[in-house]
Amino acid sequence: MRERFARFMYGRNGNDAFNRFLLIAGAALLLIASVLSRTALGRILYLLVPLLLGYVYFRMFSRDLYRRRSENERYLREKEKLAARRRVLVERWKQRKSYKFFTCPACKAVMRVPRGRGKIRIVCHKCGSTFMGKS
Ligand SMILES: [Zn+2]
Repeated sequence: MRERFARFMYGRNGNDAFNRFLLIAGAALLLIASVLSRTALGRILYLLVPLLLGYVYFRMFSRDLYRRRSENERYLREKEKLAARRRVLVERWKQRKSYKFFTCPACKAVMRVPRGRGKIRIVCHKCGSTFMGKS
């Protein structure tokens, strides 16, 4: 039985990080749908859960490894971007008492200024434009 399954899965995508994410998303969706079960939105969400699970199975048994792997890589890239963004926000939060953060209105670069210097002129280190800010 186990061997038959292994033979069946040969050349197929199987489970990857993106599928695990979709399963967790499906479980969360089911939870939200059960909370909202008396509403129209809840009923729509209930219908989405089997579609999502169908997609998970489709990806698991798919033989188009190239596509499934590029989907998985795209997912991992997006996940890493979010994790990097989160690390930046956590770091800023830790420094909030000694520094104030400003975003350059011209190029959107973020600058860190020590707090308690009053109203100051900030020069962007990236594009050189200046703006005022209260530290
Ligand atoms: Zn700038």
